[in-house]
Amino acid sequence: MSAGASTRPAPSAGEGEAAALVVSPELARLAELIRGARSVVALTGAGISVPSGIPDFRTPRTGLWENVNPMEVAHIDAFREDPVRFWSFYGERFATLGEKQPNGAHAALVELEARGLLDGVVTQNIDMLHRTAGTRELVEVHGSIASCSCPRCGGEIGLTDVRERLAAEDDGVPRCTACDGPLKPNVVLFGELLSPATLARARELCEGADVLLCVGSSLEVHPVAGLL
Ligand SMILES: [Zn+2]
Repeated sequence: MSAGASTRPAPSAGEGEAAALVVSPELARLAELIRGARSVVALTGAGISVPSGIPDFRTPRTGLWENVNPMEVAHIDAFREDPVRFWSFYGERFATLGEKQPNGAHAALVELEARGLLDGVVTQNIDMLHRTAGTRELVEVHGSIASCSCPRCGGEIGLTDVRERLAAEDDGVPRCTACDGPLKPNVVLFGELLSPATLARARELCEGADVLLCVGSSLEVHPVAGLL
């Protein structure tokens, strides 16, 4: 393997700046793979958002999910049977996630896309951080907190409105303007199927890629695990 890339100074380096470019052989090899690829796609999971202060709920004892069983509380049946209980948990999630900011890893993927070196990002995350960072070709396989919809009449409202309604309602359940039904976050809850169209787009991107960058995902969670 050539280590040439590791010694090349930055093109715009001014006096004294060239020395700051220290690239490990692994990183040089990665750069080489990306440059030589026909199509590069990134697959991201919870780990990419940890530096933004969002705990991975599969890691034990990290706050939000510590005292609840996500399979129980973030389940479609929980939403249907007891929206007050569902939203007492999920409302907090909306409030917390809405304030988080993307980190350097999200920004790096935006930069790669802007340079024409990345064809898209497929993410398991619902935190909107790839969108906020500016990724354009984005497939959120589990949906996102960007909006909620009404299972009764199909009405839809955005995150800002959801947060306002969460704060205004006595029982903490944001409701549909048209029919007053409890709104459901546009995320794939446990017990729900993924959108076939979203999954098809994710599959198309991954199958067309000759380099997959896997960031912050153990790749054990389906369906993303099945895209490899
Ligand atoms: Zn409705």
